[in-house]
Amino acid sequence: MPNSHLDILERLVGFDTVSRNSNLQLIDWVKAYFAEQGVEAEVLYDETGTKANLLATIGPVDRAGIVLSGHTDVVPVDGQDWSSDPFKLSVRDGKVYGRGTTDMKGYLACALAAVPDLVAADLARPVHFALSYDEEVGCLGVPAIVERIMQKGPRPEMAFIGEPSLMSIVNGHKGSCGLRTDITGLACHSAQPHLGVNAILAASEFMQMLSRQQARIAADPAEAAPFDPPYTTISVGTIRGGMSRNTVAGTCSFEWDIRATRPGIKEEIWAEAERFVQEELLPEMRKRQPEAAVKTVIAYDVPPLVHTEGNAAERLGQKLTGKSDSMTVPYGSEAGFFQEVGMATVICGPGNIDQAHKPDEYIAESELADCMTFLDGLGRQLAA
Ligand SMILES: [Zn+2]
Repeated sequence: MPNSHLDILERLVGFDTVSRNSNLQLIDWVKAYFAEQGVEAEVLYDETGTKANLLATIGPVDRAGIVLSGHTDVVPVDGQDWSSDPFKLSVRDGKVYGRGTTDMKGYLACALAAVPDLVAADLARPVHFALSYDEEVGCLGVPAIVERIMQKGPRPEMAFIGEPSLMSIVNGHKGSCGLRTDITGLACHSAQPHLGVNAILAASEFMQMLSRQQARIAADPAEAAPFDPPYTTISVGTIRGGMSRNTVAGTCSFEWDIRATRPGIKEEIWAEAERFVQEELLPEMRKRQPEAAVKTVIAYDVPPLVHTEGNAAERLGQKLTGKSDSMTVPYGSEAGFFQEVGMATVICGPGNIDQAHKPDEYIAESELADCMTFLDGLGRQLAA
């Protein structure tokens, strides 16, 4: 099997692991790669059996160690204009092209390339490789892998998430919770709206309630955090409702999201929405339609990487990269799931997020080399 990071990356990019597809071929290949190094990897399947996480540990499992985490899925290439086959690695002018090179198979390739050295080193503390599925569609795979790590031995001290950060240390990002609200009113002829319950107008009242909450949060100095913008945001993204101009809309659905700066605030927003629905919106609607309903469901819920300074992962990351400052990022990641269970967690990975999700996605060869240097240093740290 190949063991240079570029050869491994070529194999990983060759598996079309767009989130709507199975990732099992990639997982099987990685499991075989670990087996060849004498490491037994665990495969954790989802309930459909078509997707899986992989967890492999090198070093003593009864000690607290370090997690290296990355996702195996990539975003689609549909409708994008690529100069070369997105699932075939192409190296041009120091840049390595292919879907997922930056986000984030480049990192996985480096981590796997470091395996032979880590196996050969007599590690005093273990390193856990956590490869997840379905990150791009709401971090659906990672909770099971975190749970398994916590069962397996003592809680790891730190987690490094290899999302593209140009090998800088990222110590915070907002959470991301996606919701959908379905409203049922009562349809009738638009000439007699007093006989119906207009679900679109009810949706509008709900959204105005969200706007009021947004204004209050934005104006509260206590909610400021080192993000842009510095407060939790609430946004409505889609709306569908009604059937014709001359019918009072009987149904309306809309999708919205909350980007939280801290744990707890999402629940406060939900609680106020629920109070508004139960005390104000529904009683009014049910005067004419006892069956009127307002239901909100959560599509995905990714916790924030709560901004912290000076934790063990940040200190070690700064030492290994030689970069003394940390930053926050506008995108979400799996990091909050590791932080939630008490691991010091930062993001540090090769490549630039600006190249992610785009046609001709690439990663600079120098970024991959820097990541190998980082992992080399990490190995020496764990052996000490
Ligand atoms: Zn990613």
